[in-house]
Amino acid sequence: MAAVVMDGKALAAKIREQVRLQVEQMEHKPGMAMVLVGENPAAQVYEAGKRKDCQQCGIYYETYRLPEDVPQKELLDVISFLNDREGIDGILIQFPLPAHLDGREIQLAIRPDKDVDCVHPSNMGDLTFGVDSFWPCTPAGVMRLLAEYNIDPAGKNCTMVGRSNIVGKPQAMLLLRRDCTVTVCHTKTPDLAAECRRADILISAAGCPGLITADMVKEGAVVIDVAVNRDGQGKLCGDVDYAAVAQKAAYITPVPGGVGPVTRAVLMENTLTAALRHGKG
Ligand code: NAP
Repeated sequence: MAAVVMDGKALAAKIREQVRLQVEQMEHKPGMAMVLVGENPAAQVYEAGKRKDCQQCGIYYETYRLPEDVPQKELLDVISFLNDREGIDGILIQFPLPAHLDGREIQLAIRPDKDVDCVHPSNMGDLTFGVDSFWPCTPAGVMRLLAEYNIDPAGKNCTMVGRSNIVGKPQAMLLLRRDCTVTVCHTKTPDLAAECRRADILISAAGCPGLITADMVKEGAVVIDVAVNRDGQGKLCGDVDYAAVAQKAAYITPVPGGVGPVTRAVLMENTLTAALRHGKG
């Protein structure tokens, strides 16, 4: 039987509407600022998406565009200005930054209570220690999708393909917190197929089109495809061989329309949370 398609667009719309309704009641609206360095076309698309999401939710939004060769000090000054601004509750820096900038110093400069994308080491540390500050948007979005389809990770085996700081590692932490047994794979994993076949929940964030084939998927597994790639024809796709895997899995996320929209919606929710923590209401 074909898998249930996990509809990220519908869940994202639901989350945005919940945020909008809460924001509507607030006298002092939440505010988000995005900082973009350089002219990366993909980053411009993300920026337009965030602007639209904020508009829909009633969240104040502004963008700071800095040139590709911006000195570190100038970027730090912008962050310091935003850290001090009462109207801004969430700060989002578009990573990766150009090579001449020290990304670690930038992450440390963001005030943790405004770090709605959870890049500050203190927020990542809280996640590891099981303290709730902010959850990074993509792994949090995956947890929201699981919950939406009543999939309880407790007692299940999860294989996480990818160990990046923004997806794989925090995803593993969130699943551990929900009593899942997690195996994290990467390019040095000797037998990726075997690790995937053991998974009740298989999450892929490798960035390799066609990496996850049907023979690597256990019958009835939940398959979450975080990756956003372009195939040979320039079409968006994930890591998973969707058509074949959908015949074997119980649940599957499409690309596009799966994890991506929920990630964006969680950012709105995190910004609302930040504003409430700042005493806005
Ligand atoms: P990344 O930093 O490049 O990390 C990729 C990870 O996958 C690495 O740990 C890498 O292993 C592992 N990997 C790559 N090829 C592999 C292979 N053939 N076998 C096993 N492991 C492999 O990427 P990222 O920033 O985490 O993003 C991953 C993907 O998710 C990208 O397609 C990105 O566009 C997408 N993404 C989507 C969202 C969303 O909202 N939907 C958000 C963030 C990212 P090593 O550590 O050994 O190199």
